Amino acid sequence: MHPVANPVDNTHYDVIIIGAGPAGCACAMALAHSGLRIALIDKHQFPRDKVCGDAIPGRAIKILHEIDPAFAARLSAFTEKLPTKRTVCYYKNKKIDFSWNLEAYTATRASFDNFLFAAIKNDPAIQTLEGTTVIDVIRSKSGYTVFTKDKNIRYECTLLVGADGINGITAKKLAARQLDRKHHVAGVRAYYSGVTGMSDTCTEVYFDSKYLPGYFWVFPIKGGLVNAGMGILSETVVRKKINVKNAFYDFIERSPRLQEKFKGARLMGSLQGCGLPMGSHWVKMVGDHFLLAGDAASLIDPVSGDGIGNAVLSGKLAAHQVIQCFTADNFSAAFLMNYATLLYEKVGADMRRKTSVLKTMARLPFLFEMAFIAGQYRIIKKFMK
Ligand SMILES: Cc1cc2nc3c(=O)[nH]c(=O)nc-3n(C[C@H](O)[C@H](O)[C@H](O)COP(=O)(O)OP(=O)(O)OC[C@H]3O[C@@H](n4cnc5c(N)ncnc54)[C@H](O)[C@@H]3O)c2cc1C
Repeated sequence: MHPVANPVDNTHYDVIIIGAGPAGCACAMALAHSGLRIALIDKHQFPRDKVCGDAIPGRAIKILHEIDPAFAARLSAFTEKLPTKRTVCYYKNKKIDFSWNLEAYTATRASFDNFLFAAIKNDPAIQTLEGTTVIDVIRSKSGYTVFTKDKNIRYECTLLVGADGINGITAKKLAARQLDRKHHVAGVRAYYSGVTGMSDTCTEVYFDSKYLPGYFWVFPIKGGLVNAGMGILSETVVRKKINVKNAFYDFIERSPRLQEKFKGARLMGSLQGCGLPMGSHWVKMVGDHFLLAGDAASLIDPVSGDGIGNAVLSGKLAAHQVIQCFTADNFSAAFLMNYATLLYEKVGADMRRKTSVLKTMARLPFLFEMAFIAGQYRIIKKFMK
């Protein structure tokens, strides 16, 4: 291994990770014992909110356990989580019941991301910089120069990890990413109290032929709250001229089951929107001296909407690639492609396959209904998971 940074210079790092969401935190956790000088930068002070359904998938928890042996003890002390055991999907009076084998939870992203970040903040091996907005990243002779807004300080690094989410700077600047409506979902989310007929261990998903392949979710959160939200493919939003916030309330109106649930419910705060970059297409995620992870690499599962699982997975694989780069003293795009290839083998190919099936079903709603009937069979359930 060849760490490059000068150990006494507080603006010079081997690796700078931009974004301390699940992707950036997983990457930092996996690099904690690498001996490299790491900085983890986020524009927010933690805890910070992130618009999300707040379902923390079992796969994310499993990978975090693999990254850090101390994670289990910390997780048991994290009291804001609610264990979830199953999901029930509803469509036209039919339902499919999925049980989870892996340990999964719901938790507000404010609390879950703060829980992840707090451990890194306490780790002397990693320099954390909160409340620091990155405004530009420019290629330097030996890596990247990272420009920040608030303190007008530059940081230098040999290798840059872009984990700054859908609205971050790295995907736009380094991979020339633009919104592609065929692979982007418009999402809205709100918290409610007083929603009835919920089970603490069960998340609920609703489909309506008017909004296919989009869906509505109702997820229980610790403390009697519910996270309710909806996502629709942005291409459909434009084609059908849908106002997603109006569609959220319309979805409840159109479903007698949802109407009953939300009859006496109280909206806490406001309905908020955020986009979901889908893994239904494969985007540029590496170049000389940089790689992208999580939403910055457009990795949300197009069927389940699971973005945290792939964010954590990509953070872990990114860390593995970072170590390979310093060991081989090779930071070229060609060498970093190993990361993208591995990620594609693990999840990319599967997401593309699922997408084409899902799109066909959405074009032909009777097929969607058939899938619900057939969903009782194990093999279909496996695909939909
Ligand atoms: C409505 C909705 C519902 C969803 N529901 C679920 C769900 O239930 N389960 C699930 O698994 N996934 C869900 N997702 C997807 C999930 O939220 C994302 O996939 C996940 O947060 C990606 O993690 P990340 O670390 O890549 O990015 P993020 O969590 O977005 O973290 C990026 C971080 O980068 C920081 N940042 C951004 N720009 C800068 C900058 N310029 N300088 C410094 N820091 C910066 C941000 O402050 C943030 O902390 C949902 C998404 C939406 C929009």
